[in-house]
Amino acid sequence: MTDLDDLDVIVVGGGGAGLAAAVSAAEQGAAVLLFESERELGGSTQLSAGLITAAGTSVQRALGIDDSAERHFQHYMDLNQWQLKPGLVRAFCAAAGPTLEWMIGLGLDVPAVLSSDAHTPGLSRAGVEDVWRGHVPRDQGYGLVQVLDRARKARGVEAVLNTRVAALLFEDGRVAGVVADGIEVRARSVVVASGGFAHNPDLLRRHYPDALDAGDSLFVVAAPGSRGDHLAFAEQTGGALAGDGWGLMLPTAYFQRYHHWQAGFPPASRVYVNSHGRRFMDEDASYAVSSGIIQAQDGPVWAVFDEKARLGLPTGYADWTPARVAEEAAAGRLAQAATLDALADRIGVPAHALTTTVTRWNEQLPETGTDADFLREQSLAAKGAPARPDPIATAPYYAARVLPAELVCTHTGLEIDHRAAVLDRAGTPIPGLFAAGEAGGGVLGMRYVGGGNAVANALTMGRIAGSNAAAAV
Ligand SMILES: Cc1cc2nc3c(=O)[nH]c(=O)nc-3n(C[C@H](O)[C@H](O)[C@H](O)COP(=O)(O)OP(=O)(O)OC[C@H]3O[C@@H](n4cnc5c(N)ncnc54)[C@H](O)[C@@H]3O)c2cc1C
Repeated sequence: MTDLDDLDVIVVGGGGAGLAAAVSAAEQGAAVLLFESERELGGSTQLSAGLITAAGTSVQRALGIDDSAERHFQHYMDLNQWQLKPGLVRAFCAAAGPTLEWMIGLGLDVPAVLSSDAHTPGLSRAGVEDVWRGHVPRDQGYGLVQVLDRARKARGVEAVLNTRVAALLFEDGRVAGVVADGIEVRARSVVVASGGFAHNPDLLRRHYPDALDAGDSLFVVAAPGSRGDHLAFAEQTGGALAGDGWGLMLPTAYFQRYHHWQAGFPPASRVYVNSHGRRFMDEDASYAVSSGIIQAQDGPVWAVFDEKARLGLPTGYADWTPARVAEEAAAGRLAQAATLDALADRIGVPAHALTTTVTRWNEQLPETGTDADFLREQSLAAKGAPARPDPIATAPYYAARVLPAELVCTHTGLEIDHRAAVLDRAGTPIPGLFAAGEAGGGVLGMRYVGGGNAVANALTMGRIAGSNAAAAV
């Protein structure tokens, strides 16, 4: 039984960051207690694919892939237009590889094989990096949480479930514990790892208003505990924020309501057109860049496909099925027309441009296997998809509005330094306070570098926070 009168470290939140912090603090010999607001541990981490971005790993080496933390850092900073603090990002990139090895040492299984997607264990293309860095573990986010939870138990760290930390104890300029269920619990350091605020509309309005641009199409896949309590802790302690205005929205069709595991996928044979009736992107581009490309268009964006594509959709999913598309079309919410000219009229784009776009598509990938304009054959190959999708040529034709509307995670957190220590508004570490994961701001940037960015952040910065919180006592 944990001695509540002699705690070194309290961890707030039992997702990837919190569990990594608790285990690493315990490895330093600290007496640790973890609070989790929900009935079970795991948070968004448990719901995730568990993909981890890391460089210079044993998995990459076994596959003959030459990579380094320095290369990871350069790519990360460039994609984020150097709007992040290089010192923090360098520390993150340097520790991400060793953190993956630490997880493997704890029992995580990442086989050294190439993987074509985020769900097949192995190494996959995570984003738009030149070297594959997406490590997909067996049993995905669930497996990852199980590994950490076993390590937690083995190190004697108690997890108090169903107990939401309401406030920090902030005395004489330092954090000295937490308040939960009306009880004060003291510790020498606290790690805030309470995740993001995707389920809090007021905080979205203040810190990530772009998410609300999706209007009625917005749906949130983050775990229910993502209420943004770390932002209240920032108010309470004078903590600074970083990452304001940023988060991850995935592009989806307006009628989609689930993550693609349940929603299914749009047909491979589709083109995205803008309000000029022009194709403007690789439809399978990584979400490291796809939402940004869509947002950069000066009007709505449409997925255009045909009847053969609709009928070819697999059944058994919630959203992208032949029946659901027909239902949306019958209700008049998804445009359907007998000719491309009539479809153009329905969605208000120039008919000549739409016909030209579809003709060019038909003459390229389906005919030759190459897409001279957008190089889509490369993303299809990385996904292991057939290189030659069908032409768009069988009436009726369909157009579904596509927009960034699936909210995965938020990036505004308590500003941390390279030790995961929380900074006050003058940039000075607040004694006794550390943060990690979505609750710790500064690593997740304006551009999500690809699948694995957020889990790598949670595990890596969680591990750093835990060991520094233990060392601070
Ligand atoms: C469907 C889905 C798929 C994803 N896939 C990937 C992926 O493959 N790779 C990737 O990198 N990212 C992915 N992400 C994002 C990634 O999973 C998260 O950003 C990351 O796991 C967050 O970890 P965390 O520890 O910060 O937060 P969480 O895992 O959400 O943990 C925070 C925990 O704190 C608890 N909590 C909140 N407030 C309190 C409080 N006051 N007191 C006590 N406990 C509290 C919550 O209940 C929760 O359990 C995905 C997300 C989702 C939703």
